[in-house]
Amino acid sequence: MNKDQDDSFEYRSVTTLKGVGPAVAGKLAKLDIHNVQDVLFHLPLRYEDRTRIVPIGSLRPGQQAVIEGVIEHSEVKYGGRRVRGRNGRSLLCYLSDGTGGIVLRFFHFNARQQANLGSGVRIRCFGEVRAGARELEIAHPEYRRMFENSVTAVEDKLTPVYPKTDGVHQTLLRNLATQVLTQLETGAVKDWLPESIRVQYSFPDLPTAIRTVHQPPPDVSLHQIEERRHPAQRRLVFEELLAHQLSLMQLRKRIQARKAQRLLLTSDAYRKFVSGLDFELTRSQQKVTAEILHDMSNATPMLRLLQGDVGSGKTVVAACAVLAAVVNGKQAAVMAPTEILALQHYENFCRWFDQDVYKCVLLTGKHKGKARAQRLEVIASGAAQIVIGTHALFQDEVEFKHLVLAVVDEQHRFGVHQRLALQQKGQRQNARTPGEVPHQLIMTATPIPRSLAMTVYADLDYSAIDELPRGRKPVSTVVVSNSRRQEVIDRVANACKHGEQAYWVCTLIDESEVLQCQAAEDAAAQLTEELHDLNIGLVHGRMKQAEKTAAVESFRQTQTDLLVATTVIEVGVDVPNASLMVIENAERLGLAQLHQLRGRVGRGSRKSVCVLMYHVPLSAQGKQRLAILRETSSGFVVAEKDLEMRGPGEVLGTRQTGLLELRIADIVREQAMLPEIKQAAEIVMRNHLDCVQPLIRRWLGTAERYGAV
Ligand code: ADP
Ligand code: MG
Repeated sequence: MNKDQDDSFEYRSVTTLKGVGPAVAGKLAKLDIHNVQDVLFHLPLRYEDRTRIVPIGSLRPGQQAVIEGVIEHSEVKYGGRRVRGRNGRSLLCYLSDGTGGIVLRFFHFNARQQANLGSGVRIRCFGEVRAGARELEIAHPEYRRMFENSVTAVEDKLTPVYPKTDGVHQTLLRNLATQVLTQLETGAVKDWLPESIRVQYSFPDLPTAIRTVHQPPPDVSLHQIEERRHPAQRRLVFEELLAHQLSLMQLRKRIQARKAQRLLLTSDAYRKFVSGLDFELTRSQQKVTAEILHDMSNATPMLRLLQGDVGSGKTVVAACAVLAAVVNGKQAAVMAPTEILALQHYENFCRWFDQDVYKCVLLTGKHKGKARAQRLEVIASGAAQIVIGTHALFQDEVEFKHLVLAVVDEQHRFGVHQRLALQQKGQRQNARTPGEVPHQLIMTATPIPRSLAMTVYADLDYSAIDELPRGRKPVSTVVVSNSRRQEVIDRVANACKHGEQAYWVCTLIDESEVLQCQAAEDAAAQLTEELHDLNIGLVHGRMKQAEKTAAVESFRQTQTDLLVATTVIEVGVDVPNASLMVIENAERLGLAQLHQLRGRVGRGSRKSVCVLMYHVPLSAQGKQRLAILRETSSGFVVAEKDLEMRGPGEVLGTRQTGLLELRIADIVREQAMLPEIKQAAEIVMRNHLDCVQPLIRRWLGTAERYGAV
């Protein structure tokens, strides 16, 4: 069903609600609120309790409360502790209710307000209490004048405070929620969570859950609801994760209902290939290769995720899979997230495959005009069996002769949607063999706990490389304050003098890319001045693609001693001779990212060092993060600690990492729930097929893209 044509209540446009004209609709669209259902699922971040009047004598700093009392005396004060208002004036009203007194402080006020807030006036106000110089005070409370004998009711529900409002007033959002909630009473929104599951987990029904979350009755535990442990919230989170699980399972089912080429690789051909490598595969590499080759020997499409820590050697495993495709006379594609990585893979594959027999071709956004046309031609004719590239590979004009394997490297860089787009692309490629889809191998170095992986990659089978190649010396990590920068620079100079190569990584998060690149340029200039004996390269995100690639190439060819970089080098860059990495402002990066960066060194046989430089003062969390990195080199340990440390309440959830696009659930926080979600999804698939589509649609919306195969 087309979303636009659907007239059921929940899919009606917000413009059908009172108070929403085109201008407001435009603002709401920025919050991703387009229809009634989006209003329902735009959940409050916290709540204010305006359901009762709190005796002033019982107030504590930090508390938000409604109070009511009589102004005993008001005055305008000049200067004072914080001079913020016009001319440093503030209006102070001393309010008392018989149980105690409090100061209301206004930095901005006009003559009329001043006149209205004179002594003897009774007001009710709401605000956050804080400790003033001598007594408690509230700055700029919302207030209302109360007249003799009038009985004005307090709110009967907790007041929701919505997150990110981007110029939309809280009152408008509250008003919209109220309008929509009124309709809920009439059964306008159907509950698609099967009753057996609802009962099993003691979840409330959907209207109750939504109402409770938007307008909690005064008797709910505010603490429970703010911790997101209330059954109403649990239910919504559960339903959302369930919907994602279902969509991925359905996708898998649809793909596996298709056919793929059986690709047999004889052990002779395999042995010949690996004996041509200049190293021996680790046991772990052999094990996952066997799993992959087994999948590919079936006529059911392979859908496999290969996880392995940075430097564990995933690329060569991918090459073995590619071998199975090409010895059968077919084509394989390898997609990398950046040009730097694509080029690096291309060079490796050219080395590993005899170019007279199995031709490799590189296709990136850089190839234009004739170069591009030539490449498209050899891909379409089948003259090139191994096609390596970036997103450029998946544009419509790229046609394969017979694509039977698609490898996606560093999948976490792409997100679910791109992965799915790729699957669709892969299948449209083979005009000659309609109905057949390529085998798929997805590789990622972001090690996430198994339960998370099972959800995020619910449509994939799972293999893991759990050892590093022999002979690797663990990277020793040192943590130093920025005040020792000069020592660090000397260390770089010394290392490079002895034929080593080093990275100098400049980081700035939360600030614009422009600033980040500027920081790298400044650092490069400064280091060039101080270390004139060295060849210093620079790579950052605002350089032209060709310049970036050239900078990394020159480093790889050892023409550059020191490569100053932004975090663009985080993913995949493999220069085994580099053995020293300095990361500036390391405290600003997350654990996972630091681990990824550090993985750029320790790839050769030389003992490598990673210097994490920080600025004081270092927060307790920052200190802990750096200490973890100093103590462990295992990506899996780092990932677990990362999740532990983020914990509840931390804003930086999986939502932002693009693994799944979730509206309300935080997959990291909900980890413990995931096995139950998987079970529930299996039950729904088995016994409640009619609920599958509506649930997917409700939570993934137009992202029915997940199911579209
Ligand atoms: P990642 O898993 O991070 O993608 P790569 O595939 O880039 O790792 O491999 C890292 C480095 O280790 C490369 O230089 C690669 O050639 C090398 N390598 C891979 N497997 C082995 C092995 N079994 N023994 C020694 N070196 C290996
Ligand atoms: Mg890699």
